[in-house]
Amino acid sequence: MGPMPARVRTASSRVAQALAALDRASMRKTPQRVAIVRAFVDDVTHPTAQQIFDRLRRAMPTMSFATVYNTLAALEQAGVCRTLELDGAAGEGGRRFDPIVEPHDHAVCDRCGAVRDVPRHAQQSAGAPLEGFHVRAIDRIYRGECARCRSSSAEQSANSAEK
Ligand SMILES: [Zn+2]
Ligand SMILES: [Zn+2]
Repeated sequence: MGPMPARVRTASSRVAQALAALDRASMRKTPQRVAIVRAFVDDVTHPTAQQIFDRLRRAMPTMSFATVYNTLAALEQAGVCRTLELDGAAGEGGRRFDPIVEPHDHAVCDRCGAVRDVPRHAQQSAGAPLEGFHVRAIDRIYRGECARCRSSSAEQSANSAEK
């Protein structure tokens, strides 16, 4: 991979690519699988399979968790989805699914577990070679407090200062 700027695909082309990936995996494009694809490609919150399942189950009560998980696994196999393993105390633990496969980093909030994308500059992605080790990927995780949690903690301390 060269130092090409990451081209971010549009959501509609992500849907088309993901549906093509199901074809290649010989998975029939059932209404449930199409719904999973559509819910997933626009989701920038890095959901777990359980979160996607919970969201779709209301509209599709017959959907099983296995259908969600297997569909996402097929997308990952096809390279149109990447996964991120997070361990943390703020409920962000577990396997998170990410529709953006271009190299990028993540920022995780210690308080609410929110995950956001951090763009990576070309020079950062070219890591120094490690002797005797082939680098497949570099995953950087920034940990701290998100804007929402920061403003709510500022509000709380303002409220307690008033008393
Ligand atoms: Zn937060
Ligand atoms: Zn991401």
